[in-house]
Amino acid sequence: MSATTANLASDVIFDKIASMGHEQVVFCHDEKTGLRAIIAIHNTVLGPALGGTRMWQYASDADAILDALRLSEGMTYKAAVAGLNLGGGKAVILGDPRKDKSEAFFRRYGKFVDSLGGKYITAEDVGTSKADMEYIAMETDHVSGLPEHKGGSGDPSPVTAYGVYMGLKASAKKVYGNDQLVGKKVMVQGAGNVGRYLIDNLIKDGAVVYVSDIFEDQLQKVTAAHPGVKVIAPNDVYGIDMDIYAPCALGATLNDDTIPQLRCAIVAGGANNQLKDTSKHMQMLMDRGILYAPDFVINAGGLINVYSELEGYNRQNALSKTEHIYDQTLAIFDAAANEGISTLEASVRIARRRIEAVANIKTRL
Ligand code: NAD
Repeated sequence: MSATTANLASDVIFDKIASMGHEQVVFCHDEKTGLRAIIAIHNTVLGPALGGTRMWQYASDADAILDALRLSEGMTYKAAVAGLNLGGGKAVILGDPRKDKSEAFFRRYGKFVDSLGGKYITAEDVGTSKADMEYIAMETDHVSGLPEHKGGSGDPSPVTAYGVYMGLKASAKKVYGNDQLVGKKVMVQGAGNVGRYLIDNLIKDGAVVYVSDIFEDQLQKVTAAHPGVKVIAPNDVYGIDMDIYAPCALGATLNDDTIPQLRCAIVAGGANNQLKDTSKHMQMLMDRGILYAPDFVINAGGLINVYSELEGYNRQNALSKTEHIYDQTLAIFDAAANEGISTLEASVRIARRRIEAVANIKTRL
């Protein structure tokens, strides 16, 4: 995968798209509503490109384009490794989610999504909500993750967290020879939706759980349910004595500053894009002998949940499919060891091999 940060000069946009392998990038503009959006379709070999719509105030248009390109590429690998018949796509809306939203704004965006004829299916992401998806759904069928009362799959977080828990247990098996978490010290960074459901699972298994968040009310939700969970200040997260670090807040927490501080054997969490610079920081983790469970492999439960919605939603089926993340994570660790490559590279190879194999059968008569 490409690095997370880079400058993008306007005269190299096509070079960038070509080097990352995107099929199509759509710029959407509507003067009346003020809508400015970019829909990036990375790969549709396995199926329609499914990925959320992010709404964010980007520092520049180039940042917005890069975010859409990078996130959509990640969705391709996430779906491919999870065995889903989905391609990778993602959209970004340039704007302030607290100020710039309206019914017309999202319905207009829905019309743009609809104009792609199902090649791109959208869902919620950072800065967009279920209510926004309902407006989009007024203009297109190509939207998923709707509320349960609208026949949708509802909140994906419990399923995402269950997949992260499966990946975390598989990591424990690889490092300790068994997947029992009793007495294992797990640092969960981020007491949000995914972090809290993950903690529920960890506590059931007898793990010693630490939690950190920048908001007191989020922490209180955890400590009210599990008084034994110890709160750690945000700046102290990386240096505490732990067995497993589970990033469940924002991305890029594995970087030049934090990796040297880590006192753990495993990194396994739900946050997207945990490695600030993918190849450099993957190598730093390997040099320190820390096992990394690739984020897009173990946080695929949310995507599996949304995919189930397209087939006729059943939460039990979604959870059963998510359970396979355990075996998939172990298979990735084996492939990395056998091929002498990083766990991240092994995951990307597995994804690319599946896409190539399916592309081959599709082109044959
Ligand atoms: P959320 O917004 O509910 O929770 C994130 C939490 O992290 C918040 O409580 C926030 O206060 C906290 N936080 C922010 N910065 C922090 C910091 N520096 N230190 C400690 N805590 C901090 O989000 P979520 O839905 O739980 O998602 C968490 C991560 O998992 C995100 O990276 C998201 O992209 C990823 N993810 C989520 C899903 C899903 O189904 N929700 C699926 C795949 C990936």
